Amino acid sequence: MSTFQPVRGMRDLLPDEAERLTYVISKARETALTYGYKEVITPVVEPLELLAAKAGEEIRQRMFIFEDMGGRKVALRPEFTASIARLVTTVLRTEPKPLRIFGVGSVYRYDEPQKGRYREFWQADFEVIGSNKPEADAEVILLANSLLSRVGLKGYAIKLGHIGVLRNLLTQEGVDEKTQNAILQRMDKKEYDAAFALVDSSKCQTLLRGLLNLKGENPFETVQNLCTYLKDYPKALEAAQYLSSVLKLVTESGCSIETVDPAFARGLEYYTGVIFELYVPELNMALGGGGRYDKLIEVFGGEPTPATGMAAGIDRIVIATQAQQTKLQKQAFKRVAVFPIKEELKVEALKIAQTLRNAETPVEFEIMGRKMAKALEDADKRKVDYVVIVGEREIKEGKVIVKDLVKRTQTEVEIKDLKKTFAT
Ligand code: AMP
Repeated sequence: MSTFQPVRGMRDLLPDEAERLTYVISKARETALTYGYKEVITPVVEPLELLAAKAGEEIRQRMFIFEDMGGRKVALRPEFTASIARLVTTVLRTEPKPLRIFGVGSVYRYDEPQKGRYREFWQADFEVIGSNKPEADAEVILLANSLLSRVGLKGYAIKLGHIGVLRNLLTQEGVDEKTQNAILQRMDKKEYDAAFALVDSSKCQTLLRGLLNLKGENPFETVQNLCTYLKDYPKALEAAQYLSSVLKLVTESGCSIETVDPAFARGLEYYTGVIFELYVPELNMALGGGGRYDKLIEVFGGEPTPATGMAAGIDRIVIATQAQQTKLQKQAFKRVAVFPIKEELKVEALKIAQTLRNAETPVEFEIMGRKMAKALEDADKRKVDYVVIVGEREIKEGKVIVKDLVKRTQTEVEIKDLKKTFAT
């Protein structure tokens, strides 16, 4: 046996796993289309400069970076937003706003591998460009909610926050942007003591700790308490009021928000506004998340353009569907095997196989040159539903033998009726 293994953190997805992954991807596509999002396909390899521009120290340190043969510094994309921002500032620059775009594909981060954390994983990414209204944030959250519901997940929860609460509070307290980034990074990992230790003033430390304690059972109450808490911080208060509008829009559209967390931060540095994450209670990992990033397009050389979006972690959604034993809602095809009884009937048998395939019936043709008994035994093992046996006498009468391997019956069927026999 060969000893070759995938590179650490990379996985082979065998047929059952691959089927679940592509199923979730197909649901992500369906969901995107129902919200009017158009798909783009962008390169896996991008200029390092583009990806590093605003991804945050966290992700910058975990990128797969290399020099291509032309001496260019490039990296494997760790996420989609930078690529989409590149499109928006170049070829899509003059497109009417709002632009609703999505992309699906693999992304790469040098994360420490564990369950639900890989170095190559899949994301479905949805972005709305051009609106600074709470409706746009609400739309992305509703879309995320629709995706999880379409996949068949139950009991999932959404956590909502606004990065502007923390940022504006820290700015008013005189904390510079670099320190803010370091604080938010630690808060994202819930390393609160380490985060607060980066602030010099004890007043500011107390303020931050106070934010942590505001999170309550009822998200509306939490927002109200937050607004009261921020009464002397006009910009942070504005952020809290915006958060309140989004909460109201989303909830009144029938999607419940589990928690509002005033101390919520996300790893990517480019967020400027409302941020959110999705969970299922039985798994201690986010299934997706996103938020508003109003400055990124400008950083990439575009006109100042508000934007918001989110990325769904496809692999983790798959894990959640497995944990909840969610059935894939797929059309159930009958599996058919076609065997010619002898060499000379190969072409006839192939023609029959093609006719069935053209009618969307999956057909496995006998390509091992086996004797009938062996081939039938193998079909049984593979859990094929029917075997079509192409015999000399039957073919002359325009017929074939159909063996039902489930019911263990056998009948002669006219070739012209064969399609109907296997239709589901
Ligand atoms: P982010 O781009 O960091 O906002 O992540 C969006 C989503 O991608 C997360 O909520 C996870 O579901 C998923 N994700 C992030 N990192 C990984 C990873 N290393 N392996 C698998 N999924 C991940």
